[in-house]
Amino acid sequence: MQLRFKTTLNSREYVDRQAWRDASLERCPLHPNGGCSFARHGTYGRVEPPGTRVPRWYCPEGHRTFSLLADCFASRLPGSLVDLERVVVEVERAKSLEAAADGLRTDDISLPGAIRWTRRRVQQVDTMLRILFDLIPQCLCGCQPTVTALRQWLGVESVLPQMREMAAVYLCVLPSPVGFASPRLTANHGGQIQHDKGPDPPSGIG
Ligand SMILES: [Zn+2]
Repeated sequence: MQLRFKTTLNSREYVDRQAWRDASLERCPLHPNGGCSFARHGTYGRVEPPGTRVPRWYCPEGHRTFSLLADCFASRLPGSLVDLERVVVEVERAKSLEAAADGLRTDDISLPGAIRWTRRRVQQVDTMLRILFDLIPQCLCGCQPTVTALRQWLGVESVLPQMREMAAVYLCVLPSPVGFASPRLTANHGGQIQHDKGPDPPSGIG
C-alpha cells in the first residue's frame, strides 16, 4: 500500500539529500493502537531520477507492506510529477497527440513507441483529473479539467504536485499518477481507465 510522504523537495533534491531516510511512519496503519510487530522494511528503487529509493514498512501480522512516496513523484509511472506534467502540457498545446509525441521523442525511440508512451501518460492524467473533479467539485467548479486551465485557475506553475496536496484525504480512492488507489478499485470508473503494465517496479530491497 502506498502512502504519502509530504515534502516540498523536488526529485533531484530528494535523491541528493537521500530524503527517504527522513521519512517516518510512526504507527502501523492497520493497527494504530499498536500490538503488532510493524517495522521499517528497507527501501525499493525507482528508475528516475537514478538513485531514487522509496522507504518501506511491513506489518507481519497484517501481511502488508507500506511505502511512502514523496510528493514530487508520480505514482505507478516512472519519474516526477513535474516531468509528467510537462508532457501533458506539450500535448495540450500541440495540434495533435502524434505531433507532440514526435516532438518529445529522442532519436532512439520510434514514432509509434513515442505515441504509445505519450498517450498512456495523457490518458492517466485525464482520468485522474476527471475523478478529482468529481471528488472536490467545490474547489474546481468552473475550471476545465486540463493542466493548462488548472495552472491558470490555481495560479501555480505545477498543477500535479498541487493536486496531491489538494486531494490529500482522497489519495486512497484517486488513481495514479497523483493518487494511490489500486487499479482494481478505479478500473470501473466510467470504463475509462486503461491500465497497461508498467508501474515503476521495485528493483530490490536496499
Ligand atoms: Zn500492524
